[in-house]
Amino acid sequence: MSDATPQPKSIDNADKSMDDIMSLCKRRGFIYQASEIYGGINGFWDYGPLGAQLKKNLRDAWWEDVIMMGCSGATGPDGEPVEIVPLDTCIIQNPKVWEASGHIGGFNDPMVDCRETKSRYRADHVQVMSQASGEGQMYAFIGGDDASEAAARKKLEKYARTELTDDQIAVTPLVELDLDVYGRVVGPDAKEAGTLTAPRAFNLMFPTVVGATGDVEDDKAYLRPETAQGIFIHFKNVVDTTRVKLPFGIANVGKSFRNEVTPRNFTFRSREFEQMECEFFCHADDAKDWYQFWRDSRMAWWESIGLAGANLRLREHDTDELAHYAKDGAGTADVEYKYPFTAPDYGELEGIAHRADFDLKQHQEHSKVKLEYFDTTRGELAPNGQPEGERYLPHCIEPAAGLDRGVLALICEAYTPDPDRPSKVFMRFHPRIAPIKAAVFPLVAKGGMPEVALELHRELRQRFGKYGLIEYDAKQSVGKRYARMDEAGCPFCFTIDGETVEDGPNKDTVTVRDRDTAEQTRMPISQVADFLSQKLGL
Ligand code: ATP
Repeated sequence: MSDATPQPKSIDNADKSMDDIMSLCKRRGFIYQASEIYGGINGFWDYGPLGAQLKKNLRDAWWEDVIMMGCSGATGPDGEPVEIVPLDTCIIQNPKVWEASGHIGGFNDPMVDCRETKSRYRADHVQVMSQASGEGQMYAFIGGDDASEAAARKKLEKYARTELTDDQIAVTPLVELDLDVYGRVVGPDAKEAGTLTAPRAFNLMFPTVVGATGDVEDDKAYLRPETAQGIFIHFKNVVDTTRVKLPFGIANVGKSFRNEVTPRNFTFRSREFEQMECEFFCHADDAKDWYQFWRDSRMAWWESIGLAGANLRLREHDTDELAHYAKDGAGTADVEYKYPFTAPDYGELEGIAHRADFDLKQHQEHSKVKLEYFDTTRGELAPNGQPEGERYLPHCIEPAAGLDRGVLALICEAYTPDPDRPSKVFMRFHPRIAPIKAAVFPLVAKGGMPEVALELHRELRQRFGKYGLIEYDAKQSVGKRYARMDEAGCPFCFTIDGETVEDGPNKDTVTVRDRDTAEQTRMPISQVADFLSQKLGL
């Protein structure tokens, strides 16, 4: 599919209100709170009809471009087409998988509890504000949260009984504070000082029990915290049962679960979420080139589906941020998006990491199964002039994307306030991702118009229904119907009016309304499907 419709420039997300976006998501059926009628459950979100279709479109776009088209038909650094095969692995695996991967034992976030408010915070998210002199009470706030920071400053100034300039204020990460001074710290939402506990490890794995009479200790298992490990444990199976040859990738898409200490920012940090991960296996000597390839290819992909401009960036990690196994590797980068709640900062959308041979090595050691690859294209030359072959554990480049964070970024990017429209806002989804592809309206529900409209609806649904929803709407004024479609992000609406059905110069023509420009033009009804096909790039 090609990008057929030029996209208008993106608006800086710092100027958008997350409350407004969340309210549109609820109002139009993109995202609902899970278990809402029972008061909800923290960290869980459900997708409504439009959200479920949007999410499917994004997942499908990833599947088609990464797996089926081998990175959108790109040529790899070796000059060959890129080969990726899919896998679909279980959420529950033998717990030994998570021992080997380091998730049991290592997958801990330090957290602090507030004894006064019963709130729980990730220790590395908490900052502490004090007077630069170091004296007196200190006020904690959530780093990156402007309202929380402003509240801390207000409390500090009240305590100091004077306004303070920036130079008179010191800000220190809580984790760098000596435990001795915790008695002077007022928690982010607390009134009294000294109510924060020392940071404690908190395991993010969701435990469960397997078997009807399962014993909590003996039959304990875990919901997977990432889809990637399902790939590593089947590396040998894939090599042995398919015709893949290094370099190649294996992709896995599905739900992951993390008992996040502080789920927040809508779906950005949820306890149940979906990942789209790929492990690309190659020889250690080629890892640097493949890392560069994946980094650039993933950034270009997010741009191709409508995230662009200053809201999207690629950030290389500093050396002190790198995982221990990545220190000597090719690098780690994040594709980051400026969500309205992180602005002016950015939040991680996808991580691209050189994981070296860390995971295969771990699983080889723990499972005692040899996971080495025999490469017939390498090694010393034998007397017959052919390479003798080389046995090695491949290195791995991991592009790991969050589907829910992707959907949220697409929603934030699409959200476009427009005071001149009846809806006051429209959702400027890229046509490929838009959940509703087209809508057909009879201007009024009489005079032969509904029959013609229903026929066109049937035709468009037959041709484009597998890509997204094709709506038919005959209720209320046509202005209200356009407004509804603007909020849903439908790129084109076709209206059958009196001129369509009456004899005259415009017989058998319809009006087409463009969502982005709100302009209406007439075209023969017979050309609607081809017009849509060209505009949607299908
Ligand atoms: P963070 O630092 O934000 O917790 P991470 O570095 O732990 O994320 P990874 O383990 O690299 O994340 O997971 C890959 C992708 O999965 C992330 O880039 C993100 O898009 C998504 N993801 C991770 N945790 C969550 C979550 N709690 N809710 C929604 N998506 C998530």
